Amino acid sequence: MSFYKEIEKFKGFDLEKYMEELTHEEIKKSIGREKLTKFDFLNLLSPKAKDHLEEMARAAQRRSVQQFGKVISLYIPMYISNYCTNECTYCGFNKNNKIDRKHLKLDEIETEAVEIAKTGIRHILLLTGEAEGLVGVDYIEDAVKILKKHFDSVVVEIYPLETEEYKRLGEIGVDGLTIYQEVYDEKIYRSVHLGGKKSDYMWRLDTPERGARAGLRSINIGTLFGLGDLVKEAYLSGLHAEYLTDKYLNSEFSISLPRINEAEGGYKSKYILDDASFVQFVLAYRLFLPKAGINISTREVAEFRDNLIGLGVTKFSAGSKTNVGAYSDLGKSTPQFEISDNRSVAETEKAIRARGYQVIHKDWELIV
Ligand code: SF4
Repeated sequence: MSFYKEIEKFKGFDLEKYMEELTHEEIKKSIGREKLTKFDFLNLLSPKAKDHLEEMARAAQRRSVQQFGKVISLYIPMYISNYCTNECTYCGFNKNNKIDRKHLKLDEIETEAVEIAKTGIRHILLLTGEAEGLVGVDYIEDAVKILKKHFDSVVVEIYPLETEEYKRLGEIGVDGLTIYQEVYDEKIYRSVHLGGKKSDYMWRLDTPERGARAGLRSINIGTLFGLGDLVKEAYLSGLHAEYLTDKYLNSEFSISLPRINEAEGGYKSKYILDDASFVQFVLAYRLFLPKAGINISTREVAEFRDNLIGLGVTKFSAGSKTNVGAYSDLGKSTPQFEISDNRSVAETEKAIRARGYQVIHKDWELIV
């Protein structure tokens, strides 16, 4: 069984007709329900639900505080290689782009780690382009062993692995996995992934399950807003998180809402997720998935991120750089995309505290 079965069920669904017939009364009922159904979730994602944002925000805030308290946990991304064998039309690391490529040696990874650790961050997200020949599992393992000396939590955002490979990483202290489907619409998926292993839709779709089967503690998924129809993508990514939560009780699932940012290659997005819809989707996720974490990255501008505090978000990246070796100035490399919130970790922490929230660097301990 794969989440693909759920996607197939949705394929014959007349979304337009459903949205047309949806009433404001039904939306109000959906907001008030203790446990939301799939249809309630869809109702909250509908354009008509924009008239109910305040009510949704109040309900989401209550749920969030009940479940998580008033805290935001922080993490920082670290890119160790931007070589890639794939051809994703929306990404600066696409193998066809003439960019400055860089691949860190192990001593350089340590230099970066030391620099990042000075900020007080304890939770690191390790990223690479998808070039298995250059960044094989052995190299990732060596990198993780270095990072574990400096950080409590290491999460990987790398090319999809087999279950056994995730187990190997879990054994040396990797506690989580981030893997975005990018776009759940299969036809669009094929049109934006032109070559390389990432063009295999099913291989990517089943990756979070392989991570969960390997016992990874935290798994973060999402769609990249801008590639496909906004409501359909928000809906399927939310259903995916629900499916995983129900099926894999030993892992915690969280969801991200990345929007396409400017990148090398100049991808022009046809579907623009505006700020009001972004907020609406955060609220809908929070109400439908009360136990899921919600991540907001530095793709979003500072003021917008700050305004999301209290509406259900639980994790922020902070002080991010998306070029390889950037924290300790290890030489030229092109970033994956432009960052919108350029504040330091300390400045981000200050802004979170100013909203009456606590900053969490670590709230658990992995025993290996
Ligand atoms: S999105 Fe990932 S796989 Fe695709 S080109 Fe960029 S780095 Fe490579």
